[in-house]
Amino acid sequence: MLDWLIIGGGIHGNHMANVLVQEAGVDHDQIRIVDPFERPLHRWRQNTANCGMQYLRSPSVHNLDIPILSLYQFSKTWKGEADPLFIPKYYRPALSLFNDHCDHVIRTNRLDTIRITGRATSITPEQDHLMVATTAGDLVSRHVLLCLGNSDQPCWPSWATNLFDATSMVHHVFDPHFDRTVLADVGHTMVVGGGITAVQLALTLSRDLSGRVTLCSRHPLRPHDLDFDPCWVGPKCLDGFNRTPYSQRREMIRQARHRGSVPREIRAQLNTEVAKGRLHFIQARIAKSWMHDGSIVLTGRDKTLTCDQLVLATGFEESRPGGDLVDGLVRDHGLPTAACGYPVLEHKILWGSNIFVTGPLAELGLGPCARNIIGARRAGKELLAYLGTTQTE
Ligand SMILES: Cc1cc2nc3c(=O)[nH]c(=O)nc-3n(C[C@H](O)[C@H](O)[C@H](O)COP(=O)(O)OP(=O)(O)OC[C@H]3O[C@@H](n4cnc5c(N)ncnc54)[C@H](O)[C@@H]3O)c2cc1C
Repeated sequence: MLDWLIIGGGIHGNHMANVLVQEAGVDHDQIRIVDPFERPLHRWRQNTANCGMQYLRSPSVHNLDIPILSLYQFSKTWKGEADPLFIPKYYRPALSLFNDHCDHVIRTNRLDTIRITGRATSITPEQDHLMVATTAGDLVSRHVLLCLGNSDQPCWPSWATNLFDATSMVHHVFDPHFDRTVLADVGHTMVVGGGITAVQLALTLSRDLSGRVTLCSRHPLRPHDLDFDPCWVGPKCLDGFNRTPYSQRREMIRQARHRGSVPREIRAQLNTEVAKGRLHFIQARIAKSWMHDGSIVLTGRDKTLTCDQLVLATGFEESRPGGDLVDGLVRDHGLPTAACGYPVLEHKILWGSNIFVTGPLAELGLGPCARNIIGARRAGKELLAYLGTTQTE
């Protein structure tokens, strides 16, 4: 029997494994990470590469390792290419540097040796352990840590779903099968979305494709350097959140997260490209779409747009992630949820008696930062605090 089984091998799963191995002293033979992809952080690498991201939105202290300055120290001897290595505000690292640092942390702590390639399909809590069925066979563990992220649920707007069956020229940037580098170089490509991913993608496509590229957003671009105010990482905002009943926390999170927003320097890049005529920006709330003479037609309240290729950058579904795996825990084993469907937790990350969660699933416990990299770091601290508590009890 394992001591710890981590389901999901992205940034969160690897950081939590790192915490358990380095800080809680868990032996490598007592812990496994199960994830559908062979390479750690596959979905992170794929999504960030597909939108053409160059620098992280978060500061360098938000990294995979335990010491907050680990990424900065690593940068001093790093042999890769990025100029500059960090950008203001908040000392944000180049994506290539960040990714190489992740590889370094994973290799140094042998987190690649505890990986099982497979997908968890069900979890059955027993007296003092959990039975986990996976596509790579059944596993038994005393504790399970759900680090599922939300990358399995890209948001397809309702007006776009009919296009998916009608043409192969409609894509979602977060579709697991999407590859930006093989997009067709057609007459007119439209990117739909109003957040950082959409703007980065439109900028990248305007450089890569010879045809016309238009970014279509339903709202004016909203400038925000970060996904949320930094007060949400500390007591200034979290004290109030922690005192708030679970029933009201979803609304606090909704208001705190700057959904569909763009750091100022990326908005400035967009403005420059638009001024030079290399990229087009249009504000329209699309309501319907259809195919006509091989073109994609989109209509809003007072606008009709046409394009040859459509790439949606419309984020992820807001509903609870985890699909059947998590639905089964709620339906068959009665794990508690709030009205929004997300877990009601104890000790901020404990769901039931021996299942722990991070990322979006921990949002009602950890607050608006839960799904970011800093959310993994906070979950790690809460886990250590919990283990310290239970060991001394
Ligand atoms: C384009 C982009 C840029 C971002 N930039 C930043 C940034 O700069 N700073 C920041 O703080 N945050 C950023 N984020 C937000 C967040 O940090 C990332 O989404 C990050 O990848 C989340 O890590 P994760 O491990 O929770 O999820 P993921 O990277 O999605 O990893 C979860 C893994 O779990 C696997 N999984 C799911 N279900 C199962 C199952 N049943 N069995 C086994 N495995 C399963 C998935 O396949 C996946 O491999 C960004 C997000 C995106 C999309």
